[in-house]
Amino acid sequence: MKITRIDCHVLLVPDYDTAACSSAQDDLVVEIHTDEGLVGIGETDTNPWVARECIRARGTHCMGLGLEESLIGADPLQPEAIYERLYSGSKMTGRRGAVICALGALDMALWDIRGQALGVPIWQLLGGAAQPHVTPYASLLPTGHTRKEQHASLLDKVRRAQQLGYQAAKLEICWSGPYSHGGLQERDDTILEMVAAAREAAGPEMTLMVDVAYAWSDAKRALRVLKALEPYDLFFLETPIDIDDLEGHAFLHEHSPIRIAAGEWQNTHFEFLDLADRGKLDVLQPDVGRVGGFTEARKVCQIAADRGRLVVPHCWKSAIGIAASVHLAAATSCCPFVEFLPAELSESGLRTTLVTEEIPALNGRIALPTRPGLGVTLNRDAIARFAQP
Ligand SMILES: [Mg+2]
Repeated sequence: MKITRIDCHVLLVPDYDTAACSSAQDDLVVEIHTDEGLVGIGETDTNPWVARECIRARGTHCMGLGLEESLIGADPLQPEAIYERLYSGSKMTGRRGAVICALGALDMALWDIRGQALGVPIWQLLGGAAQPHVTPYASLLPTGHTRKEQHASLLDKVRRAQQLGYQAAKLEICWSGPYSHGGLQERDDTILEMVAAAREAAGPEMTLMVDVAYAWSDAKRALRVLKALEPYDLFFLETPIDIDDLEGHAFLHEHSPIRIAAGEWQNTHFEFLDLADRGKLDVLQPDVGRVGGFTEARKVCQIAADRGRLVVPHCWKSAIGIAASVHLAAATSCCPFVEFLPAELSESGLRTTLVTEEIPALNGRIALPTRPGLGVTLNRDAIARFAQP
């Protein structure tokens, strides 16, 4: 089998809001075509125009190969060998950042082709079932432009997630710091009020997590809030401080009463080695597309398994990325949850319409996928509707 063509779809919802803390508004979807008619699908979570150019750009020497031109004519059934060749051959421009995000989308599509060619779902290629089903947590970003509006919206989404059967939910309380949702800059005690209200609404049984999107300027400020949050029984608190402050993460690991989670931005397993060993992180959150595809994500799972840590994949894109997370989780015993944006609670047209049928979450569980490969089919109408030049 040979790769014959790569299509890159840059997608954007028309009502995107540049003040929102949500990357679900745009997307890069790749399709890798083969001479035997199989087509693999991949997705990545970064600036889609930049990622597309990383794929299309020509190479001029052996330290800076072009990704697309290197793939044409290659055998798609060897995704790991291809990843190594492209990672090594693009090191001068790549190694981290957008090139790895682009490689991740391509790697996802290659595993999709491999699964389809062998007639098995990707989780079987990753080592088989490590758990009987996958547990999604409903990831809840509020609407509204003021804190009061977002507070009310989050409470409403917690109740609706519970009605939809989710047994776990994450509150996006991005009210401070450089990536606040809608530009809010609120006092730390407003986060405590929000969590207290959400715990009361959810009751004691529901698992709750909180994402503050790098809200706090340093680890000691973060620790003060983490200690105050202890009574609300959070499963983890995500990205409390700047991702490059590894010593701060290690300090929080030693002192926080709540697990610390991070890693949504990281590229390659090397960055997770730093987070796990220097940052002593409790919960590693690789995004399959962004970390470098299944080839890198499975190495992150091994890093977590070797150290007794947890993996909870990040996913804030479409049903394509969710499918990737589910395949990874199915084959990973130290993965208690996957991030899941319920379509019913998402405002993004990409999340709700990009694939024709998606892996269903029923009663707070996702059954192991049975369709070969990734198991998703693109909705051509949605591709046409959201396509960007
Ligand atoms: Mg996050």
